[in-house]
Amino acid sequence: MPAPNIDTIVSLAKRRGFVFPSSEVYGGLGSAWDYGPLGVELCNNVKQSWWRWLVYERDDIEGIDSSIILNRLVWKYSGHEATFNDWLIDCRKCKGRFRADKIVDNKCPSCGASDWTEARPFNTMLQTKLGAVADDDPAALAYLRPETAQGIFINFLNVQTTMRRKLPFGIAQVGKSFRNEVTPGNFILRTREFEQMEMEYFVSPSDDHWKLVDYWVEQYVEWFGSLGINRENLDLYEVPEDERAHYSKRTVDIMYRYFPEREKPWEELMGIAWRTDFDLSAHSKNKLDAEGKRINPDSTEDLSYFDEPTKQRFYPHVLEPAAGVNRTVLAVLMDAYSEKTNDKGETRVILKLTPQLAPIKAAILPLAKNKPEIVGMAKAIKRSLQPVLRAVYDDTGGIGKLYARQDEIGTPFCVTVDHQSLEDEAVTVRDRDTWEQERIKVSELADHLQKRLKPYPVTAPE
Ligand code: ATP
Repeated sequence: MPAPNIDTIVSLAKRRGFVFPSSEVYGGLGSAWDYGPLGVELCNNVKQSWWRWLVYERDDIEGIDSSIILNRLVWKYSGHEATFNDWLIDCRKCKGRFRADKIVDNKCPSCGASDWTEARPFNTMLQTKLGAVADDDPAALAYLRPETAQGIFINFLNVQTTMRRKLPFGIAQVGKSFRNEVTPGNFILRTREFEQMEMEYFVSPSDDHWKLVDYWVEQYVEWFGSLGINRENLDLYEVPEDERAHYSKRTVDIMYRYFPEREKPWEELMGIAWRTDFDLSAHSKNKLDAEGKRINPDSTEDLSYFDEPTKQRFYPHVLEPAAGVNRTVLAVLMDAYSEKTNDKGETRVILKLTPQLAPIKAAILPLAKNKPEIVGMAKAIKRSLQPVLRAVYDDTGGIGKLYARQDEIGTPFCVTVDHQSLEDEAVTVRDRDTWEQERIKVSELADHLQKRLKPYPVTAPE
């Protein structure tokens, strides 16, 4: 049973230090969130899992980290200045403003009326100004990137030549993106500042791109499975042409059941798009249009690729799996949420995070905090484990409370040091999911925990 709704996760996240509403001391800032001590660990673990899976475990993907603010011309030639629009409509009755494509049954979500203005485009790139310039100097205009992908495209040649890559190969990047969303909301699902994990996979124009989209969809479904997301809570959506971005010939969205309480429970978790050779051509100085004119008179580079075996030069096609860190974290939290009743009839929340994602892997708890020998031994065990796994020491409550707190934040193991430990050099290891306990020698503890913490495997690619 995953969480019954997003609100359950909002309250757990705030209560336990995963996510806080941003700028709360000034009344908050609509749909902005800050990640607390446990949230930052969970996000980092998701990003590390993704990076390990693509950049380390495969042999065909490199990583980069490009600037958030790029030359404005990047956004001109990528098509974002002209087309990165949401369609806005206003309710004539209550004056509410909404995204036209999110309106269900033509009814205003605020007042229920069906009296709309004409839809009009609204560019969702967030603007800023560079340098000490006059407010109205158009040359100073710059954008906070709305996707990390363009930083990859403009570095295609740099990466390909310095790493001596041949097609097919990919470039991965994780980082912040910004969109001036018309109607942000639903906790961390839709915010104006968010984090993306994007990968551009470059292939030949003659490859079977349709099949490659399927391949990456399967890979990601499996990766989400390795993060503990149940396949039944994922759905695939073949995006029709009129809903696709301007560069895409095929897009499949992987949807997650974010709204189990609603009739339409699905919302996008990530998208996998065949972006064709649109972006590399658009940024290239030699690409000509149908009339033989350069499509990009500003570019000083040509991002084409010379294919040695066929002796041909072409612009590679691109498959792009684009996932959100925040939406992945929300799906992981919802799927990990469970409740269990103890023998006193009390209901406890257990966050069944996979060991690789759990913010804390082991909590070391002294059974008696007024016994210096027990406290000393527990702290020494914490320090000895730290080089191999994230461990914490906690003595801020009775043992029952401490167990419950660790269950609720998803710590896979509690290690209890008791009076007997001082004599037999052993501790009790308690499993979060089964609540079973076993006695383990301190000398074998690190090995024992590491074996049980192994991440769930993702099938290695062929
Ligand atoms: P939507 O239709 O939900 O606005 P999109 O199709 O515009 O999303 P993409 O451009 O495909 O999104 O971006 C790739 C991924 O980045 C999304 O699947 C999502 O995980 C994440 N993402 C996009 N916009 C946001 C946002 N405003 N807040 C949080 N995550 C986002």
